[in-house]
Amino acid sequence: MSKYWSPIVDKLVPYTPGEQPKDRVFIKLNTNENPYGPSPRALDAIHAAANDDLRLYPDPAAIDLRRAIADTHDLTIDNIFVGNGSDEILAHAFNAFFNRDTPVLFADITYSFYPTYCQLYGIQFREVPLNANFEYEPADFQGPCAGIVLTNPNAPTGAKLNLQCIEQVLSNNPDNVVVVDEAYVDFGAESAVDLVPHYENLVIVQTFSKSRSLAGLRLGFAIAQPHLIEALFRVKDSFNSYPIGRLTLEAAVASWKDRAWFEETRSRVIADRERTAGVLRQQGFRVLPSAANFLFVSHDQVTAEDLSNTLRASGILVRHFNRPRIDNWLRISIGTSAECDALLSETNKISNI
Ligand SMILES: *Cc1c(COP(=O)(O)O)cnc(C)c1O
Repeated sequence: MSKYWSPIVDKLVPYTPGEQPKDRVFIKLNTNENPYGPSPRALDAIHAAANDDLRLYPDPAAIDLRRAIADTHDLTIDNIFVGNGSDEILAHAFNAFFNRDTPVLFADITYSFYPTYCQLYGIQFREVPLNANFEYEPADFQGPCAGIVLTNPNAPTGAKLNLQCIEQVLSNNPDNVVVVDEAYVDFGAESAVDLVPHYENLVIVQTFSKSRSLAGLRLGFAIAQPHLIEALFRVKDSFNSYPIGRLTLEAAVASWKDRAWFEETRSRVIADRERTAGVLRQQGFRVLPSAANFLFVSHDQVTAEDLSNTLRASGILVRHFNRPRIDNWLRISIGTSAECDALLSETNKISNI
């Protein structure tokens, strides 16, 4: 701390990202990165765009990319916002929609960035408890509030929400924005994108980081009715009008259009998730049903912390959250088939102790 810090900075508890070790090669199953790499067409697009034009600012409105996304969903560019990772879009959304006198609602067990945005912007929040199986109870998301964030599938649990539940929350809260964070939706949940024309209070946020394997590129997007997209633009253009660089714009368009690569890689991840979950259950682990690219796992006899440390000693990183209700659970990302096998051979030793 320093006397120069503002009171808000003094109290901030920044989000802690998963470890990105530099000292040693680990099997990284701790940050939900996609093991298969981006579309080769995205890489070609980056090479092609790496030229003298980089002296010029990028398109501040990202028209080509927004049009590509809009076309896929039979929407218009007025329905699409893009940002430097979906984290940035979520931050803008909290600022644009939730900065009011009442609290924003999100689950007690969910993405831990949400409370951080609240602290940064001085937004009140109320954590709504998930049920004993770590599932959403849609009826609990109502009452006076500034807005709602639903995460589908949820992180770090992997549980998906069906569209009826999302519609229930949308219609129970007609005066508030409902943000649906769909970071993992492509791995097995149903996107709420088709609801956008029917709900003026719905904002969907997705990312290229997980299912399109471009976490290093930093690109996310939001889909909503134009009056909500306009609010995001007002915040962005008061903060940084050129967030998406030229190389990113080109790569994202190419990646978006390479449907075959997307389908092939996500189905490999889904197949390995189901296989890994099955074997872990045989080994005596409790594994929640997951619609994401990770599993949420616990064991009766071995604490999550011990499990995490033992795996680490064998060169495998997983994520342990030292938080109430989930401190005896581990989140394990789905890697390549070989990485899943390496994990399973270690968990087999541990569960037989
Ligand atoms: C990974 C993740 C994001 C953000 O991803 P970006 O890399 O910033 O696009 C947002 N929400 C959840 C729940 C995530 O797990």
